[in-house]
Amino acid sequence: MRDETLAIHAGYDGDPTRAVAVPIYQTVAHEFIDASQAGAIFDLELPGFHYNRINNPTNDVLERRLCALERGVGAVTFGSGQAAVTQAVLNVVRQGSNIVCAPQLYGATHTFFSHVLPRYGVTARLAADDTTGTMEPLIDEKTTAIFCESIGNPAGNIVDLAAVAELAHAHGVPLIVDNTVATPLLVKPLTHGADVVVHSLTKFIGGHGTTLGGAVIDGGSFPWAEHPDRFPMFNQPEPAFHGVVYARDFPEMPYIVRCRTVGLRNFGPTLSPFNAFLLLQGLETLPLRLERHEANARRVANYLRHDPRVEWVNFCGFADHQYHRLAETYLGGRAPSVLTFGIRGGYQAGLDFFNSVALFKRLVNLGDAKSLVSHPASTTHRQLSPAELEQAGIPPEAIRLSIGLEHPDDILEDIDQALAVCQERLLSRQYAGSE
Ligand SMILES: *Cc1c(COP(=O)(O)O)cnc(C)c1O
Repeated sequence: MRDETLAIHAGYDGDPTRAVAVPIYQTVAHEFIDASQAGAIFDLELPGFHYNRINNPTNDVLERRLCALERGVGAVTFGSGQAAVTQAVLNVVRQGSNIVCAPQLYGATHTFFSHVLPRYGVTARLAADDTTGTMEPLIDEKTTAIFCESIGNPAGNIVDLAAVAELAHAHGVPLIVDNTVATPLLVKPLTHGADVVVHSLTKFIGGHGTTLGGAVIDGGSFPWAEHPDRFPMFNQPEPAFHGVVYARDFPEMPYIVRCRTVGLRNFGPTLSPFNAFLLLQGLETLPLRLERHEANARRVANYLRHDPRVEWVNFCGFADHQYHRLAETYLGGRAPSVLTFGIRGGYQAGLDFFNSVALFKRLVNLGDAKSLVSHPASTTHRQLSPAELEQAGIPPEAIRLSIGLEHPDDILEDIDQALAVCQERLLSRQYAGSE
């Protein structure tokens, strides 16, 4: 079935009461039939619900639905997108490993890679850009993944997923892709060679700024068993589960099984079933909402581009954009509703715009029905050095907009009045000689 249908129906054919909406299974545990069934579930011999840190029937529907939309073989949900990123990576590393990354990363991912992982003996090697040419020299026998965002947040770069996947596979490593900004409606990384997809469900999938959540989806494509030295966690007996060998005992999807047994069971960042319910509500209208998000974003991008007060607009929907060709290939000519732009006056000008909006909400989120504005250099990416900021594709003046579902004329009117305020402030700073 098509995405519009999957978003509404996949993963649920009713429960014993024939409830038409997915019920919220607000329970911590499920009763075992007897000791032998309990034992078999604990040995991963029988599927089944037992304790809701590990799995839950409401979350299960969300996992199946996301899996269908991304064309995966299995999925695990997490309490936040960041938990999903963390577990997606921790699932393939051990002390001494490294991962190779595109440098255009979400702020918390960037700091996790640069400052948290190294304390556990794992290094993230940020390439100079998002191309295979700069990534390849960073790969060695200790590399256990390439990580990138399909559409970088907030840089707006689009990664040539097929090329990066080919590079990864040539070196015997999987490609993990954060597909949050694109959503499975714009690109399905698994169909372009990626092995694992990560989502923050908090953004477009929830869609209303109410609910944190994350997910990891396994494409089932990576041959873990062929690389026993690089990936002992999938090829050696796991003492925590009666000596299970993931690649041998779950040959279709060892990655995602371990993501649940270690990622959820041991680390514990579980999604609440109530949040899973809200995220399922969001998912039902995702295809519809994205159409309006995109139409509004195109109006805004064109408006900004033709406004003399604006210096630059970074929107891959423009035919002359650096990433337009890749947008055609991977997004099928569609465009995300997250874009950045800059006005003259550097960091302070960015702050001025941020401070001057009235309809736009000043916050660090995206994909909400409401239009949102953020100034990455002073917020999400505040911890980055000027050189890192440049590499991450965020000039100091950059303003990130997430265009919502309001009437486009109201959005444009707010931008217009904010630009007028910025221009006045710039002029008065220049007049006072401080510029
Ligand atoms: C927001 C975001 C995350 C983190 O998700 P949370 O749900 O906020 O934890 C990770 N990656 C990208 C690209 C994001 O935009």
